[in-house]
Amino acid sequence: MDQHSFSTETGLDFGLEEAASVVQSLRGRFSSRRTRPLSWRDGQLKAFQAMLSDRQDIFHEALRADLGRCRFEAWIAETGFLANEAAHVRKHLRAWTRPERVFTPLVHQPGRSTIRREPLGVVLIIGPWNYPLQLVLAPLVGAIAAGNCAVLKPSELAPNTAAAIAEWIPEYLDAECVRVVQGGVQETEALLAQRFDHIFYTGSGRVGRVVMEAAAKHLTPVTLELGGKSPVVVDRDVDLERAARRIAWGKFFNAGQTCVSPDYALVDRAIEADFVERLRANIRAFYGSEPRSSPDYARVVNDRHFARLQGLLQSGRVAEGGDSDPDERYIAPTILREVPDDAPVMQDEIFGPILPVVPVDGVKDAIARINARPKPLALYVFSKRQRAIDDVIEQTSSGGVCVNDTLAHLSIPDLPFGGVGESGMGAYHGRESFEVFSHRRGVLEKGTRIDPALRYPPYDEHKLKWAKRLV
Ligand code: NAD
Repeated sequence: MDQHSFSTETGLDFGLEEAASVVQSLRGRFSSRRTRPLSWRDGQLKAFQAMLSDRQDIFHEALRADLGRCRFEAWIAETGFLANEAAHVRKHLRAWTRPERVFTPLVHQPGRSTIRREPLGVVLIIGPWNYPLQLVLAPLVGAIAAGNCAVLKPSELAPNTAAAIAEWIPEYLDAECVRVVQGGVQETEALLAQRFDHIFYTGSGRVGRVVMEAAAKHLTPVTLELGGKSPVVVDRDVDLERAARRIAWGKFFNAGQTCVSPDYALVDRAIEADFVERLRANIRAFYGSEPRSSPDYARVVNDRHFARLQGLLQSGRVAEGGDSDPDERYIAPTILREVPDDAPVMQDEIFGPILPVVPVDGVKDAIARINARPKPLALYVFSKRQRAIDDVIEQTSSGGVCVNDTLAHLSIPDLPFGGVGESGMGAYHGRESFEVFSHRRGVLEKGTRIDPALRYPPYDEHKLKWAKRLV
């Protein structure tokens, strides 16, 4: 698609002027207080659920066209995930929006202190291509729940899904409060030049820096959901079969194009060969001996990523897979062994179906290797020993942790999902999604019945003594 042919859902070419006009019209709507009532928010979330259910097949078809995604993975990671998220938020929203009473010290009595959540205003949500529906619409659930107006900018690298979002969001949601802008770098830059009240970005750290720089001009707060090399630690005392099956599932889900995909495995030397054997068996059980013909195995998103991944196949000895086909952008589920520390596959996030298996001398060695790299988005540890699990958790840092499974922590609605350090800042999902798009406003309401002279000049030693006791 030609970059300049992108447009808003209204069909206009999109540059600085159009971006300014979209934001201005949303500001008008926000100021009219239309998004404030709980009834508006709940109604929008209900309509959102209806959209997911009525148009599920359309979204699944778009995901197949963009990523060769099968229906099961499309449902579990996109439409089903979003439906659950919206249901959870709707169930709790009334309680979350209630003013939260906090302690008021004696010196301020009679008085009442509360935290009130208020919407931020007009927010921008920029999404990546790998879960092109979930990663634009899950933040939107939070933005609506908190009572904001929003601009959505889906990824141009998943054009079918972006087009479906641009078509159906205005049909179901309040089109004067939620707008979709399709486009690539140029359109995103036009949006980033505007003043927003929050920017929620998911994607690479490189573009995360561009976003944060643009946001700084307007002192706009940002949430950056980035990536990184998420390690898996496999202890020697482990249920090896379960570990291999769950790691193979998490790694090759969406052909490894998952921000929390197990990037590389640090496996105790004593069980490494056995682990690789079981991984191979599971890959074959999932996708057959010819994964290319499996309807459940996804494709690489575009030629650039295909070429990058193909280059990484030479980073070690291929223990499984290793074949590829540029016509289909197919890369086989691949296990690499004997991978040197300085191999290309051990430098940047792999973001594809290649798993380097690195033998280590126990959990301590694994921890040291993890800590030698930037903080990852996810960390997985497989062990039967609580001590080993605790050591890994306590002596490392990462956005989140999942013990004896992969990817699953994302679907726990009350666990904040987000990165730390290089893997991002801020978190969302469930209540956190509501909080991230809310301002927590501290309010003290004081009565006028009592007004001791204690705090007013002229001060003296006596007043100071009492102040020290009471404050
Ligand atoms: P990307 O950064 O290339 O693109 C993401 C968005 O940024 C797109 O909407 C794109 O149009 C826009 N963009 C690209 N270049 C831009 C520029 N120069 N200026 C302004 N906007 C620009 O990211 P990607 O390749 O789509 O995603 C892959 C990365 O995202 C991986 O690192 C992955 O780990 C990470 N990721 C993180 C999460 C998470 O939840 N933390 C989820 C998915 C992906």
